[in-house]
Amino acid sequence: MPKVGVTKATKSFTLTMSTLAWLDEYCIKKNKKMSAVINDLINELRKQTEAPKYNLYWCTSCSDNTVRSLVNDEPVCVVCESIDEGLSRARKQFNLSRQP
Ligand SMILES: [Zn+2]
Repeated sequence: MPKVGVTKATKSFTLTMSTLAWLDEYCIKKNKKMSAVINDLINELRKQTEAPKYNLYWCTSCSDNTVRSLVNDEPVCVVCESIDEGLSRARKQFNLSRQP
């Protein structure tokens, strides 16, 4: 029975000799299969590159673009902690429930 969510794909690609030597040694040290190590490396890189980007909103109190966080379901400036009334109205108008 194949593992769920794991599709075997045979693919050949070229690694430099030094990369391959390092990878070989790393797999032996960690007692891991090469495919598992490469999979982990790619997943780590994906996590880094797909990290959520925070939207910036103009804060009249700070006179600067700042990040909002939700406090009691109200968007609040993370710097001065004042409620962003404009964003609050917009959220209610568009019935947004997700993070700003
Ligand atoms: Zn502020």
